[in-house]
Amino acid sequence: MLSSSGSAEVPCARCGTRIAGLPWGEVCTECRNRRASRASRWARRISLPATLLVALYVILRVPPLPLARVYGVIAVLVTYIVVRKVVYRVALDLISD
Ligand SMILES: [Zn+2]
Repeated sequence: MLSSSGSAEVPCARCGTRIAGLPWGEVCTECRNRRASRASRWARRISLPATLLVALYVILRVPPLPLARVYGVIAVLVTYIVVRKVVYRVALDLISD
């Protein structure tokens, strides 16, 4: 079926909504946004406990030297950012809904 603009309407691979200009086998914007928000929620749920564990390790095990504390804080921040990005990417691929 052709839309009013002349391009073919292709069904979304997930919800079946017909959208003009959508490549075959792709999901619509709404489905993509829903998947991204679920992946973001998983990333937040996993990265916060991981960051807390690293912070606990830094508090308990790193010697109380100023430079060591600075590196400890950097390690905590890097852990949060890296774990969140990795979990987001993995969840984006694994989430099927
Ligand atoms: Zn869809």
